[in-house]
Amino acid sequence: MNQYDSERMAEALAAQGYALTADAAEADLVILNTCHIREKAAEKVYSELGRVRLNKERRRREGRDTLIAVAGCVAQAEGAEIMARAPAVDIVVGPQSYHRLAALVAKASTTGKGQVATEFPAEDKFAHLPARPQRKGQVSAFVTVQEGCDKFCTFCVVPYTRGAEFSRDAAEIVGEVERLAARGAREITLLGQNVNAYHGGGPDGRPWTLARLLRRLAQIPSIDRLRYTTSHPLDMDDELIALFGDEPKLMPYLHLPFQAGSDRILKAMNRKHSIADYEKVIAKVRAARPDIALSTDIIVGFPGETDRDFEATMALAARANFAQAFTFKYSARPGTPAAGLERQVPEQVKRERLYAVQSLIDEQRRAFDRATVGQCLDVLLEGSGRKPGQLYGRSPYLQAVHVEGPEGLIGRIAAVDILASSPNSLTGVIKSGFEWHEPVQAAV
Ligand code: SAM
Ligand code: SF4
Repeated sequence: MNQYDSERMAEALAAQGYALTADAAEADLVILNTCHIREKAAEKVYSELGRVRLNKERRRREGRDTLIAVAGCVAQAEGAEIMARAPAVDIVVGPQSYHRLAALVAKASTTGKGQVATEFPAEDKFAHLPARPQRKGQVSAFVTVQEGCDKFCTFCVVPYTRGAEFSRDAAEIVGEVERLAARGAREITLLGQNVNAYHGGGPDGRPWTLARLLRRLAQIPSIDRLRYTTSHPLDMDDELIALFGDEPKLMPYLHLPFQAGSDRILKAMNRKHSIADYEKVIAKVRAARPDIALSTDIIVGFPGETDRDFEATMALAARANFAQAFTFKYSARPGTPAAGLERQVPEQVKRERLYAVQSLIDEQRRAFDRATVGQCLDVLLEGSGRKPGQLYGRSPYLQAVHVEGPEGLIGRIAAVDILASSPNSLTGVIKSGFEWHEPVQAAV
């Protein structure tokens, strides 16, 4: 989501003459787009700010100005503190105020005074951001459709930093996807903290579900692949699950966090679902799409987690058999209910549990990858690989795939015979006799 937000911020600043630079040391404006989800991510901001400040001082000695902005959820959570701890910062802007960024930049550069925008403005940010430009862009693009969260898991800062749950209007999303399609996108990943709770207003005046939105987007001719992330188990309704069997453009990949394998810990996390609920959902998903690649998020060391609770997490991961997963040590976040709980788990125990669960997931991921060796998979070619003549793409299961081929194939979907799997990617050859075609351009 931060990647998507960064793109929208850059586009919003284009009217003032700003363009992206590959050389941060020479930037007139540096924006740090930050994450507050775990302590490590938040702390990185201050070390990075130290570096950027030194650069600002060097440029000032050379007679040039540099504006420094902090955006994202650290900005939202620690706005005033950032200004106090890092006086070199000119602008602090929370995620709901990006449509005001251009005005904040103009004001900071003319007045020389610090600007802070961390309230949750009543106006819809998306309606006030400039429409996405028609330049040639990525083959695979993100589109935020839902933001914020009302679920209040006891470990999580999202409801406080991104605010209440909000869904964008369906027509606005369709328009954005059509513009991305016109500039070359073939794959769209819909984003939301709880993407499957999507309930944006439809053109028919009724709220649309995520399934309805996906079906509409699947009608855009040059969009060949759809994905969405992140989903909450409680919001996986039957219509959405059935789509895995019914809609060929919906890729067979689902990221569905379970967080912890014991009902006692899930209750303390306020997840509002049980292990049985989770397993029921994944059984239904597998019935709809037997080859689905399942992914998840797991937290180890939540306060009060015993060895037995952790074994239950390992057992659930073993039964579910994931194609990949994101695993985290519990990180106490200021202002969240779990941060104040007694029986915090010692760091060493967290580290050991993380290692154990990561090893299990690693084994599962490798086994999943090995099982695709010998298959012919459709690979969306997204760009050049590191080696000359090499292309890089993604399989339907979101695996990274390397093949040899001409750059002209970037943006095409190629049939690839998978020859080998290595720890981080698959290698294959484009099937002989494979004929690629120009994607059908959407009429916009
Ligand atoms: N909304 C999604 C859900 O409910 O599953 C997750 C969104 S959250 C931005 C991404 C992941 O970060 C969570 O699934 C969780 O595993 C992890 N996370 C959130 N807060 C955390 C914390 N305090 N410590 C460790 N991991 C955390
Ligand atoms: Fe955070 Fe997800 Fe829970 Fe919402 S549902 S509070 S985003 S972990």
